[in-house]
Amino acid sequence: MGGGTYPTPGEISLAHNGVLFLDELPEFNRSVLEVMRQPLEDRHISISRAKYSIDYPASFMLVASMNPCPCGYYGHPTKQCICTPHQRHQYMSKISGPFLDRIDLQVEVQPVNFDQMSSKAPGEPSAAIRERVIKARAIQSLRFKNHPGVHCNAQMTTALLHKYAEPDAEGMEKLREAITKMNMSARAYDRILNPNQSLGRRQVVFMVFYAITVLFWHLVVDIVLS
Ligand SMILES: [Zn+2]
Repeated sequence: MGGGTYPTPGEISLAHNGVLFLDELPEFNRSVLEVMRQPLEDRHISISRAKYSIDYPASFMLVASMNPCPCGYYGHPTKQCICTPHQRHQYMSKISGPFLDRIDLQVEVQPVNFDQMSSKAPGEPSAAIRERVIKARAIQSLRFKNHPGVHCNAQMTTALLHKYAEPDAEGMEKLREAITKMNMSARAYDRILNPNQSLGRRQVVFMVFYAITVLFWHLVVDIVLS
């Protein structure tokens, strides 16, 4: 985070305006991840010492990866997970709900089989993706031209979210249903609205269903453990 006797910028400030990738997220000390919550919201970090405090910029995109369980095979289509429900629960509980709330997109990735790996079918070239990103960024720059300090969707405040990403009546009803059933926080609600801007409605509905699926599995784990 930055600090020491003579404070210096930490990893989150070194990743300013870039990407901070945390591989094997649960291996990080939980207290470190919890401290990261505030800079993720504020995009800067204040380090206080007895006689002074220093403010470092920390506007970064957090990307993280983790396994579904300690052995890595929970939910694998062909391999058997050897973890106990307690071990899985312990592993998942290393990441707190409020921290997860701050991650806009959470995607479960299935293993790639040999046919897919050896497939000669070309994927979409990076140059084409780059074009799309540039186009999206240009739209966002235009959208926020009258809002100093806001350049992209991820930087929207709650007020801006409601201005630019408010769903229609039908969408609002679906959201209300999902949020009530899943007992989601106000922050999670904002997070669902935000990708709405760049992903489109169909994907948002998918995300809500995905979130319901995740909730279902958490309930199954809870029932097994109880
Ligand atoms: Zn396992």
